[in-house]
Amino acid sequence: MTNKNASFEDFKEDASFTPAMAQYVETKKAHPDTLLFFQMGDFFELFFDDAVQVARALNLTLTRRGKAGGQDIPMCGMPTHASESYINRLLGKGFKVALCVQTETPETKGKAGPLKREVTKVLTPGTALNEQFLHSPQNNFLMVLAPPMRVRNKDGERRDVWGIALVDVSTGDFFLEACEGGLECAQLLTWNPKEILVPFDLLEDERLHLLRTLYKGVLRSLASARFKKIFPSLERAYGPLFPMMLENFSEVEKTAAEALVDYVETTLQEVPFLKKPQALSRENHVSLDCATRKNLEIMTSLSGESAHTLFYAMDATVTGVGKRLLAQRFQALSGEIKILQARQQAVSFWMTHPKLLHVLRAKLADVLDIERPLQRLLMGSASPKDLGALRDALIAFSCVKKVLENEDAWQQLPRGELDTVTLHTDDVLCATLQKLLHELLPRTFELGAVIKEGVDAQLDALREGSGRAKKGVQDLERYYRETLGIPTLKVKTNNMIGFHIEVATRYKAQVPENFLLKQGLAQSSRYTTEELQDIAHQLSHSDEEARVCEQKIFDTLVQRVQQSKNAFMTIAREVALLDVSSSLAHVALEKQYILPVLTQDRVFEVQGGRHPVVENALLLQGKTFEANDCGMGHHNFFWLMTGPNMAGKSTYMRQNALMIILAHVGAPVPATDATIGLVDALFSRVGASDDLARGHSTFMVEMLETAAILHQATPNSFVILDEVGRGTSTHDGLAIAGACVSYLIQHIGCRTFFSTHYLELTEKEGLLTGLECHTLKVETWENQLVFLHSVHKGKAKRSYGLEVARLAGLPDTVLQEASRTLEKLEYDKGPNPPA
Ligand code: ADP
Ligand code: MG
Repeated sequence: MTNKNASFEDFKEDASFTPAMAQYVETKKAHPDTLLFFQMGDFFELFFDDAVQVARALNLTLTRRGKAGGQDIPMCGMPTHASESYINRLLGKGFKVALCVQTETPETKGKAGPLKREVTKVLTPGTALNEQFLHSPQNNFLMVLAPPMRVRNKDGERRDVWGIALVDVSTGDFFLEACEGGLECAQLLTWNPKEILVPFDLLEDERLHLLRTLYKGVLRSLASARFKKIFPSLERAYGPLFPMMLENFSEVEKTAAEALVDYVETTLQEVPFLKKPQALSRENHVSLDCATRKNLEIMTSLSGESAHTLFYAMDATVTGVGKRLLAQRFQALSGEIKILQARQQAVSFWMTHPKLLHVLRAKLADVLDIERPLQRLLMGSASPKDLGALRDALIAFSCVKKVLENEDAWQQLPRGELDTVTLHTDDVLCATLQKLLHELLPRTFELGAVIKEGVDAQLDALREGSGRAKKGVQDLERYYRETLGIPTLKVKTNNMIGFHIEVATRYKAQVPENFLLKQGLAQSSRYTTEELQDIAHQLSHSDEEARVCEQKIFDTLVQRVQQSKNAFMTIAREVALLDVSSSLAHVALEKQYILPVLTQDRVFEVQGGRHPVVENALLLQGKTFEANDCGMGHHNFFWLMTGPNMAGKSTYMRQNALMIILAHVGAPVPATDATIGLVDALFSRVGASDDLARGHSTFMVEMLETAAILHQATPNSFVILDEVGRGTSTHDGLAIAGACVSYLIQHIGCRTFFSTHYLELTEKEGLLTGLECHTLKVETWENQLVFLHSVHKGKAKRSYGLEVARLAGLPDTVLQEASRTLEKLEYDKGPNPPA
């Protein structure tokens, strides 16, 4: 393009546009934060900045259409019929899209001016319902952050409380959190929402820095007036159940929830179906801050993938509902021992019935998803395929029921959280759907492809009428061919002129007078006759009636399912519970994990513990993981870990942290025996990680994170500090590390793993009650360091820094000089400790 591109902002008040462009400008002004897809005949077109963005995002050609103030108006477009996949890709990139379609055709058009156009649909990543966009079974969350409210806490201090609401419109999952203190502590923040709405006034706020860095591109603002203290949208969504559904939530949570539901309602023009909101409070959940989650690679690895994570290693679910429930349990760790034990008991049930487990998993796999097709049905955008999916889920669930009900064990044993599973099915509905619907169903309504033959007398009669008319067309064709002696004569139909008789030009002389010419082409001519018109009319009439009739039967079925929504929700819930518990049992049996004994006592005892992710990776390479024990109790709650680099300190500390997380999921752990005392919070930090994007150096990050832990940890917390205090000079690093150790032991007293290279710290053993030194075994063999990866009581005598450097391949000359210097330093017993 030679000219400068015209920008919308500069020209939106310009009066010199063509009528169609003026219509575009007005529509775009009403939808400023969306990409406006403007229908022009068979195309959707985008203009101005929208066109530039879309062309770049989708790699489309950018052209121009007309001018504004002498500058080119950038334009890009795509055929309407192909737009869906483009739109899904844009949603995937965080964009919001508005479809402005023609609501009249040139034939129906009234007065002068451009065709009437209207925005009929707004699509956003967080409210999307369509199957193509939601290809992953994982939750698709929309998040709203309400402005903080000042409240007095129980110690009388005034504090800011943030309200966060998170919803998956496609499943109805709904979570609320009131978060005191910094947003870093918010649990819901890390749930990977696809769209986030924050009050306009806070968009640039310093306190939202973390949110902006975590979720660049999906943050949008919501007018501050949308955050209210009245809750009409919630009342509409829940009806008479509203007070009960929200009784235990604070004002700030309800405000966030209201803004969220209001947004969904305005976007979709439909009240969403929502489950009862779940509260994520610190009282009954283990708090894990953002740094800990990131560091322990629970849902996402440090490189941003979902593989090589704890969740990935533990997830063997076979249904969409199961996968989502399991993920939610990993994201909201329960702190209630009763709940966890009930979950464990369910897992244990399957572990003791492996044959039944095997059969169940095969049957469950046929259920696929229930919530998403149901939600589309409830929101009035159901496809025949969705109805078919629900029918198939019902059939599969009946099979599950049969399998379980015929099993004595299922009838007798206590099964923990599975005790609530009723296996109730709606056999009548299932039979009706089976009887009426075709086996395979299309994504959009197609005449004759939805309702079976022989199930509805009226529909059959209409279809017969249509069949007769079709046969009439064939008969007429044959009759014309024979009587006119034109063997190639054909009766055809198309969208432009409907039914017609096509005769090749060379037979033109044989065409009788009652044939009316409709269209003359080079090779042939197209005619119609009264007889043909009659039959065509009959055909379109009976087809139309058949369509109405088939659609009506379909709609009745949809309504019937809508009435049974609670039954479907219950089935979905039961399938999820069965899937989660049985898949965890499957993993446990396959990988030899066990269910830990849970206690409120401040202990952590493990035999044969392994790191689930590292073990899997080593297994793939044909190697074995060295299992390690841990016996942490009241007298030795603080473990000071020393040992050379690469010895396995970090792996060991993390594997123990991961077992604590698994205990709080109610899941089995990679060990041969374990007793795990529950925690109220888990903190994990690794030294030496720069966050230059935030403008903090290594050392500053370390200190900020350590400060957060020292302020927040309680005696019931679990802390892992991995080589903290290295980013500064040896002396003050050692001093700070030493002071942190004393503080954690004397002022907090929480269970802690603390790894360090400051071997001096091991001298605190015996001086500080609770501190015990542990080290990782290494041997030197023919001048080479051999890592045994086994943990035992004691202190590392040396750092083996040079040996590790040799392993890494530092040049010999460097190693020789380093070795001489080290000898001298150690001889002098200089002030510097070994690095
Ligand atoms: P450190 O923190 O002491 O420097 P790491 O924990 O990072 O050491 O371990 C270094 C490497 O050693 C890991 O990447 C892993 O491959 C291997 N490793 C650690 N622990 C074990 C173990 N218990 N069994 C087998 N390999 C291990
Ligand atoms: Mg390490």
